[in-house]
Amino acid sequence: MKVLITGGGGFLGSHLTDAFLERGDEVFILETGMTLKVKHRISDPRLHFVRDSVFNETILEGLIARADLVYHLAAVVGVEHYVGDPYQVLNVNVNGTQNVLKLAFKHGKRVVFSSTSEVYGRNPKIPWGEDDDRVLGSTRIDRWCYSTSKAIGEHFCFAYAKMGLKTTVVRYFNVYGPRLDAIDVGRVITIFLGQALRNEPVTVIGDGSQTRCFTYVADAIEATVEAGLREEAVGEVFNIGTDREHTIRDLAERLIRLAGSKSAIRCVPQHEVYGPSYEDIPRRVPNVDKMRRILGVTARTPLDEGLARTIAYFRQAPHF
Ligand code: UDP
Repeated sequence: MKVLITGGGGFLGSHLTDAFLERGDEVFILETGMTLKVKHRISDPRLHFVRDSVFNETILEGLIARADLVYHLAAVVGVEHYVGDPYQVLNVNVNGTQNVLKLAFKHGKRVVFSSTSEVYGRNPKIPWGEDDDRVLGSTRIDRWCYSTSKAIGEHFCFAYAKMGLKTTVVRYFNVYGPRLDAIDVGRVITIFLGQALRNEPVTVIGDGSQTRCFTYVADAIEATVEAGLREEAVGEVFNIGTDREHTIRDLAERLIRLAGSKSAIRCVPQHEVYGPSYEDIPRRVPNVDKMRRILGVTARTPLDEGLARTIAYFRQAPHF
């Protein structure tokens, strides 16, 4: 099978590339960034890396026409972007997604769209089932542009599904693991890890009582592959994650312990890190029944085990 992965050079995309190559498939990556995260595969003749963007419709159409299955992962992700460059978030995530779906529809190719747990916003009714409400703040708070952009992508998927295109939406819950972001930037685990490895204070925002369900990448990828292969997944949306909930303070303590670090925890006000256009989400927990029932996958990797593997990876790959 030929699989096109837009954003295949990113964190999830690179692991998805590994998974399909290991299955024996051929993978086409369309990626604006670097080959760094797939460099261990670059000599594989079944991997084709195209450095271009989903805005280049000629290239995109050529790739879609050749593919049997399309994963649309190319997006602008990360809180620093939601509050730093909302235009890019909206442009890439809305208009880029529209391009992919339009051309997939033209060629009748199945699409899996990577969405996010952010679409639920700060809905206080935990855990969140796939059909639960979206509870967002004002459009004056830049943070919500990401949630909104991905929700528009989902609406497009469902709209095209009504017109006969096979689409599946997957909503990721704080996936982490090797190749996540560069140390010190991006998501909380790489930020904490950089601080812990240098024995500097670990910056917990607020009092650290906010929670997340950290999902190890191998578990998320297993579910993502099934989302693209199973016929029962067509037209559906899935939470992809674990329902084991941890506070951010607990995460900081575990990382310090597992890294053998001497760091202390320092609580910082959120505006000090992200400025005024940020609003934290107090709790985020998925209901994962549908993932288990239809995709046949349970995210089983314990947090300590996943963190230990992540730490080991970043220790031997300091350039990341
Ligand atoms: N966080 C933190 N310290 C940091 C960066 C993030 O305490 O230096 C917290 C953040 O406030 C949030 C959680 O870690 O509650 C997860 O943040 P992340 O940016 O990884 O993604 P989110 O889950 O908010 O999309």
